[in-house]
Amino acid sequence: MGSSSLVRVSVLLIMPATTSNKPYRVGRSKTGLGLFATKPIKKGTRIIRYFGPILDSRIPEQDEIENKYLFELNGRWTIDGSVRKNLARYINHSCRPNAESDVRPRERKVYIRAIKNIEPGEEINYDYGTDYFKAYLKPIGCRCDSCERKRKKLRAEARAERAKVKARAERKAKKAGPKSATAKKKVNGKHFAGKAGRARS
Ligand SMILES: [Zn+2]
Repeated sequence: MGSSSLVRVSVLLIMPATTSNKPYRVGRSKTGLGLFATKPIKKGTRIIRYFGPILDSRIPEQDEIENKYLFELNGRWTIDGSVRKNLARYINHSCRPNAESDVRPRERKVYIRAIKNIEPGEEINYDYGTDYFKAYLKPIGCRCDSCERKRKKLRAEARAERAKVKARAERKAKKAGPKSATAKKKVNGKHFAGKAGRARS
């Protein structure tokens, strides 16, 4: 009792406020790490700020900095988002995202804002833009859900097309003459007989 339990109570009261305030956490995604919603996020909500040192392209040593977390504000200013505290750097690209980057060049700030209602557990993502897509994602193939769905559909269509071609070829072979058809049957019959015989012995 007394002062020590009082301290503990106040710590407990403070802790959840500082740790669970954020509606997101870093977690495993299929391409590495990603940012995931831990609470429902309403469409239009500012989720997180993308931040880091501001680089000035007119200063040669700043212009030379190169990493995949650079966020260009305009021709002159770029945010270097590679700093550890910038959790927004974990947000992956999607071609059909649930968030967007709200870029404010004058304030030199970028916020990530929900453009859909996001459910707990859902990965948060935004469109990195065409320049990034062309430079980094197109060469290796974009792995966002939308692109994977598209690829799956294309594969299924290709499979269906191959099956169609094969069926057509088989119909043609049948029409070609009874000779080739009976020859095929014989071979098949022998093959099956042989297999069944071996299995029994
Ligand atoms: Zn994609």
